[in-house]
Order: sequence, then C-alpha cells, then structure tokens
Amino acid sequence: MLYSRESKRSDTIVEVNGHEIGGPGTVNIFGPCAVESYRQTAEVAAMLKEKGLGIIRGGAYKPRTSPYDFQGLGEEGLRILSRIREEYGLAVISEITAPGHVELARPHLDIFQIGARNMQNFELLKAVGRSQTPVLLKRGLSATVEEFLYAAEYILAEGNPRVILCERGIRTYEKSTRNTLDISAVPLLKQATHLPVMVDVTHSTGRKEIMAECAKAALAAGADGIMAEVHPEPDAALSDSKQQMSFTEFEDFYTNLP
Ligand code: PEP
Ligand code: MN
Repeated sequence: MLYSRESKRSDTIVEVNGHEIGGPGTVNIFGPCAVESYRQTAEVAAMLKEKGLGIIRGGAYKPRTSPYDFQGLGEEGLRILSRIREEYGLAVISEITAPGHVELARPHLDIFQIGARNMQNFELLKAVGRSQTPVLLKRGLSATVEEFLYAAEYILAEGNPRVILCERGIRTYEKSTRNTLDISAVPLLKQATHLPVMVDVTHSTGRKEIMAECAKAALAAGADGIMAEVHPEPDAALSDSKQQMSFTEFEDFYTNLP
C-alpha cells in the first residue's frame, strides 16, 4: 500500500504556503465552520494573521444533516476565500463535496478538505487524487482505521501524494461528547503511515470546555497539528453555533497549546 511505512520510509511533508504539515513543528488550522460573509471571514482572518498563523478554514459547501439547514454559500464562498487569501496572505482550506468541484475550486483553494460524510465517496477521492492540490481527508463517522487508510489509498493511487489525515471523532454510544475522539488512532496512524495526521477537536468533542485538553492530548500522542473552529459571533453562527469558539475563548485555547 502506498500509505504504508514499508512503501515510503520518510515522513511525508505537505507544504502549503511555506508551512510544512508533517514536518518537525506543529501546523494548526483554525477558522469558522462556514464562510457566511466576506466580513465574518475577514474578521477571523485578521485575528489569525495577528497571531502569526498561516492557514484559515471555512466551509463553502456544507454537508448538513438536515436539508433545511444552511448549506453554505457555494461558489460565492469560494470567491470570498480567494479574496481573503489575496488580502491576508493566508492559505485557505475548504471542503468540496462533488468531483465537479475539483476544477471549480482549484483556483480558490490551497487545500481540499474531504469531509467525514464523504470519506468513502470514491469518485470524489479519485477526482482529488488526479489533482496535485493537497487534500485533508477526514475520518468517516463510523470508519475503522483500516477503512480510513484505504480511503487515503484511493487518493494516493491516482497520483496525488499530498494527503493529510484528520481524526475528527467517531460515533459511539457515548453522548457526553458530540463524537468520541479516538486518540489511539493518532499513534496507530503515525506508525502505519508516513502521512501527516491532524486532530479536529471541534467536531470530535463538540465541547468547548475540553477542547484545549484534548488538543494537548492529541499533540502528546504525536499529531502534526490541530483543527478547531472559531467565529466572531458564535451565537449568531449559521452552523455549529454551540461549538465554535469566540475570539476570547480562542485566545485562551491558543495560548494554552504547547
Ligand atoms: C468541517 O470540518 O467543516 C466538517 C463538516 O467536519 P466533519 O466532516 O468532520 O464533520
Ligand atoms: Mn463545523
């Protein structure tokens, strides 16, 4: 398997705008759940930039559980992200949900995100595999580590070596967190593969009061970086309003990261 340490001994480093994901340091990705407007995204970009961070996230296509919930701004969201990239010099990552989005989104994005719900959308995996744009692949809601690795293999097998794995919690019987953060997946993935591994503490826990501790645990377990959501006005957010950090909460979270 192309993902395996047997096939490649050295760690894969995915370079994005001068940031080396999977390299010796930690590279984190923060930003709102969804791009809601230019202003909302720009406020986050300015705050991240001030902290010296280099990558912003924000969903343009939002695969929501209910069809009546906010579905994202689509192409308009991609155009906002392009403008943010130009004005703030930040790299941008956003989820794409269909093979047709690859060509459309490529000029706007530095990293394609494949969401948990699409981890086994094999035509989408093959389509991003045929590009050379870095791909952050999230673990499926109920995917085993083995299934997660096979999904990564689909991308690698098409010729794109720039794959970043992201543990984002799995579904269990436990209801006190949104999903169960599988910390053991981090060292398992690091041992089995040469690919960078990130941990999303927002969608895994859904609980702001434990995100900092979970991020520390993830980094201690060997994660190459943390993903988390931050919004200028979480109470008014169009998606995930309960779990996005305010700027004040984010400040506390970020300064406590190792
Ligand atoms: C996201 O990161 O915006 C998201 C929807 O996460 P997941 O696919 O992990 O649910
Ligand atoms: Mn979200």
